[in-house]
Amino acid sequence: MQILTDTHMHTVASDHAYSTVHDYWALAVERGLQMFGVTDHAPDMPDGAHGWHFGNMKVLPRVYRNVALLRGIEANIQPMEGGLGLPDGMYPFLDYVIASFHEPVFPPSDLATNTRAVIRTLETGRCQILGHPGNPNYPIDYEEVVRAAKDNNVLIEINNSSFTHSRQGSEPNCLHILELVDRLDWKVSFGSDSHSAFTLGHFDACIEKANAIGFPEARVVTANAPRFLDFLAEHDKPVAGELQPWAEQFRT
Ligand SMILES: [Zn+2]
Ligand SMILES: [Zn+2]
Repeated sequence: MQILTDTHMHTVASDHAYSTVHDYWALAVERGLQMFGVTDHAPDMPDGAHGWHFGNMKVLPRVYRNVALLRGIEANIQPMEGGLGLPDGMYPFLDYVIASFHEPVFPPSDLATNTRAVIRTLETGRCQILGHPGNPNYPIDYEEVVRAAKDNNVLIEINNSSFTHSRQGSEPNCLHILELVDRLDWKVSFGSDSHSAFTLGHFDACIEKANAIGFPEARVVTANAPRFLDFLAEHDKPVAGELQPWAEQFRT
């Protein structure tokens, strides 16, 4: 299984991350990635990026050294009823939105409350990826969530950091989620959730888990640039058309 895009990473726009867009770009080229997406924490997260960070990403090139850059955000599922907490005016500047539970914004709650918040967030139609849903601090009804993700065309993220240095105890949940996604005929994204460029494009743990259960590569929408851009086209994201001529070279 070869994964040639990375849709989850944080830059120095957040103080607890340590790499610049240039650092990521250099390693993306070195590692043969086709595309990556910068997804800094939303402004309502402590240490999140300022709103201007998201509005001004247009100054960055779309393609440099034949690697494309996407302009994303990791938004916070809102307490307690769900939603993303982003101003309406921010969406036109974003190619995609990851929606995640984060402890400083959403105090961990019971299964029913968490599940309802996730599903209401998916139903807003404004997020494309559900970030690290295997976090054991947020018990959710996985089957209900995967069904809602499918109904709303939102990818379920399998987060490589959840297997390495974040959200300890995620592993069995992530395996269960992978099995459910396969059984319910849905799709995932793989994200490194890098807070430093050194881990960009690192999906060893995701791939190992996927292989262990025979999870098909065809369900990994972030496996290559054309596949993820086609998905963004389904969400009417202008970047899909903008990058489509460039992405043709990677269509097989
Ligand atoms: Zn972070
Ligand atoms: Zn996160």
